[in-house]
Amino acid sequence: MLKSDYLQSVYAQVTTRDPDQREFHQAVLEVLESLDQIIERRPEYQQKGIVETFVEPERVISFRVPWVDDQGKVQVNRGYRVQFSSAIGPYKGGLRFHPTVNLSILKFLGFEQILKNSLTGLPMGGAKGGSDFNPKGKSDNEVMRFCQSFMTELSRHIGQFVDVPAGDIGVGAREIGFLFGQYRHVRGTYAAGVLTGKGLSFGGSLVRTEATGYGLCYLTQEMLKTMRNDSFEGKTVVISGSGNVAIFATEKATQLGGKVVALSDSNGFIHDPEGIKLEIVKDIKLGHRGRIKEYADRVPGSTYTEGFRGIWNIPCDIALPCATQNEIDGEIAKVIVRNGAMAVAEGANMPCRPEAIQAFQSGGILFAPAKAANAGGVATSGLEMSQNSMRYAWSFEEVDRRLRGIMVNLFHNIYDTAEEFGKPGDLVVGANVAGFLKVADAMLTQGLI
Ligand code: NDP
Repeated sequence: MLKSDYLQSVYAQVTTRDPDQREFHQAVLEVLESLDQIIERRPEYQQKGIVETFVEPERVISFRVPWVDDQGKVQVNRGYRVQFSSAIGPYKGGLRFHPTVNLSILKFLGFEQILKNSLTGLPMGGAKGGSDFNPKGKSDNEVMRFCQSFMTELSRHIGQFVDVPAGDIGVGAREIGFLFGQYRHVRGTYAAGVLTGKGLSFGGSLVRTEATGYGLCYLTQEMLKTMRNDSFEGKTVVISGSGNVAIFATEKATQLGGKVVALSDSNGFIHDPEGIKLEIVKDIKLGHRGRIKEYADRVPGSTYTEGFRGIWNIPCDIALPCATQNEIDGEIAKVIVRNGAMAVAEGANMPCRPEAIQAFQSGGILFAPAKAANAGGVATSGLEMSQNSMRYAWSFEEVDRRLRGIMVNLFHNIYDTAEEFGKPGDLVVGANVAGFLKVADAMLTQGLI
């Protein structure tokens, strides 16, 4: 529970104002609990109303997205953009296309994004957007018509110096291509820096595709080295999901000497005790958008089990949840602790519920929260924006080197901040406080309130 009366009143206002936004409440409460460590030391935040301003988005845009399906029938989805904070740079954050998308989820993601972007050290504000449209099972033409309608409206609200969206769940290279094409068409301008995650032939950056998964492993490696004098070498790794983040986390964890033995999708999970053959996963998921189940049919000795949560019964040294929010609850976390894991790092956004984080921390497991651990994606988006501004493209090695440098610095920033504010080893507090201080001080300096 919050100690500070001020923070309690901020939280009460958040929950009373939007009583149904549970994911948003969860994200705000976690951050406020960390701010409890600093609020007495920085009375100006209360005097100037910084925290109550910080938890309210600068702007929330909601719009209809009509499109015509392959049968000629009109479908109507809902589109959103939550422009949460532009204190340290233009709004920046992904677009999610998934039937579960609603304002609570986008506000939680936009709020987290402010702190994550701040931690990268790059000048980017926080935002998130998306739609309840489900690209799964749609033809390429249907996805194109949806993206064109979505961007027709969104284009009024974004721009390379205003708001720069990227991909997230359900928004990959195909969707970004359609969205960029429509932006160019309706605005009549080639502003490459308006979206990130673009194709390499039209302003995309090398390593952006791999960045979130690679960055997750770079940070985890630095955490193991600093806090346990250890590494991925010889470790058994379980990774949930089998999308963009999971696939490239598998690739980098394997390159660093780990053995990834399980992956999942929303239907179930595969277990390959010999180590996942990534080229087969890539062929299934990236080659023909298949289901992970197919892996067990193709690889002797591997198994498929229905139900995605069962993956966490598999013993591992390192757990990297890379699917979606609130996947790991307190009970699952206890199983992971009991099975002897040494580290958990969040590749997805908020995959661990608060009780799970509590179980990891009290069980002595290293825990890296999403806003630090998966910041490599947006950091590389920032590098894509830099390259677009320069009209230049760095090599794969150059971007990868910068990404690794950002993740290593980020880790030491949050590790040192946790220590400075009296919570050594607590990377949740370290990430929330380090991310917040930079944004709050920018707000104070600019007189934003
Ligand atoms: P993808 O759409 O590429 O993959 C998502 C994966 O998670 C799929 O395997 C999907 O399975 C699974 N999944 C989705 N919803 C559920 C669910 N309700 N239950 C179980 N599994 C589910 O997305 P990304 O890999 O890009 O994103 C994964 C996570 O990482 C998200 O939390 C996202 O916000 C976060 N993230 C992504 C970044 C990026 O650069 N892509 C950057 C930072 C964070 P299925 O195919 O069955 O739906």
